[in-house]
Amino acid sequence: MLEQKAEEIRAGLSATRAEVVRRQDEPQDIGDCLQKSHDEWLFVNQNRIESELLREVEAALHRLEEGDYGICQSCQAPILEERLEAVPWASRCVRCQEAQPDMDLVE
Ligand SMILES: [Zn+2]
Repeated sequence: MLEQKAEEIRAGLSATRAEVVRRQDEPQDIGDCLQKSHDEWLFVNQNRIESELLREVEAALHRLEEGDYGICQSCQAPILEERLEAVPWASRCVRCQEAQPDMDLVE
């Protein structure tokens, strides 16, 4: 049962990871993006967020393999299932997240 759930999460995370990598590899029309400084900011920021997401997903996959997936990395409490459903790569519980919202940039 738990194994099956882990397999599901692994598949979901792998799909997210593949999607992020695919989008990063897509050729972008730099000319359009640089037309306005605001557009440029969006372009750079989008890439930054996707890199961050990729990092979070890779870390979650690693935790899955280590067997401490779903455990808050700050207080070691189990992360609520609803939270993991919404954010499968969540590394901290809601309480720690709310205490230091800056640590997780992507949710
Ligand atoms: Zn916590």
